[in-house]
Amino acid sequence: MKQSESQVRGYISNIQRYSIHDGPGIRTTVFFKGCPLRCGWCSNPETQKLLPEEMMDLKQGKKVITGEEKSVEDVIEIVCRDKVFYQESNGGITLSGGEALLQPEFARAILDTASACGIHTAIETTGFAEPCVFEQVADGADLILFDIKGIDEEKHIMNTGVSNKTILENLRAAAEKKRNVTVRIPVIPCHNATTEELQKIVDYSVSVGINRLELLPYHRLGEPKYRRLGRKYRWEGIPILTGEELKMLKSSLMIPDGVELMII
Ligand code: SF4
Repeated sequence: MKQSESQVRGYISNIQRYSIHDGPGIRTTVFFKGCPLRCGWCSNPETQKLLPEEMMDLKQGKKVITGEEKSVEDVIEIVCRDKVFYQESNGGITLSGGEALLQPEFARAILDTASACGIHTAIETTGFAEPCVFEQVADGADLILFDIKGIDEEKHIMNTGVSNKTILENLRAAAEKKRNVTVRIPVIPCHNATTEELQKIVDYSVSVGINRLELLPYHRLGEPKYRRLGRKYRWEGIPILTGEELKMLKSSLMIPDGVELMII
């Protein structure tokens, strides 16, 4: 590891080993702190603010600090512990969050260092960043798991807090550059969980050259965290989709030949 790279520091929320839903094989997922979006259904609200913050620990019955500053070296030391599993399963490291693009130097240094160690690299991203920042990080990743939450701009602003214009342009640019991109669609009741909305996402993705898409079912596992952070959960009371409903939605979509759509 280059000395200067290993010293780059950034804020992370958590490092999760043995992940199986964040790209191929067994992976270590590094959850970055900080996200420019505020999705009403977010299941990782503790990652939204960049800096460490207080969160109630129910076991200890008191507030503790969630999130910490780490160096690239700290992160890579943990990631390398499971190299043997990556090799056996074609796994690797995935940067998630939060949004890794908010800390581009830190993200890129982790990706470069992992690559130099022979580890497959992926980022799961909202794609919400200046194109040059997106490029800077995307260039270092073997795989981009690109979240697309909706095509309707007004609805996107209402439910995530930001426009989707830059996101859609970054997706187009990534596909044009023939990057290895999988589009991930969180299927969210009261936002995009209709054939019409999902079809628009599929159609846009396919039109820019994407041929692999994944549907991620909405869940409410993050809801208790809002209480622990003293924040309001905007999706309170909105029921999850059943597996059957999700399968029906998937089968209602028109998917061109050569395009793969999976439920994760
Ligand atoms: S983009 Fe992800 S981390 Fe950010 S607010 Fe939305 S769901 Fe949460």
